[in-house]
Amino acid sequence: MLQLRPNCELCDRDLAADSNSARICSYECTFCADCVDTQLHNVCPNCGGGFVARPIRPKIEHRRGTSLEHQPASSKRVRSAYSNEQIAEFVNGVKDIPAEQR
Ligand SMILES: [Zn+2]
Ligand SMILES: [Zn+2]
Repeated sequence: MLQLRPNCELCDRDLAADSNSARICSYECTFCADCVDTQLHNVCPNCGGGFVARPIRPKIEHRRGTSLEHQPASSKRVRSAYSNEQIAEFVNGVKDIPAEQR
């Protein structure tokens, strides 16, 4: 199940569970749309993969036992282990390769 992490790993801005600005890679590395578009250029700095919009877990229990209340978002903030310089260098080496060919 998706962890729905509470912040962008790069700029640390809050990303609420119902945010339309959250982006995730296949490992659930979580960033904001601004960082993905302007700094990461669709390259996850942790794995090199591309991003998709994070799905929004429903607030309402449409089906029994499934809702944000039943499976709450994570409150554990995650920050990237890499420096901005390391990230920029990594992104530059990967961004021109289409995500499906990386
Ligand atoms: Zn960000
Ligand atoms: Zn990743």
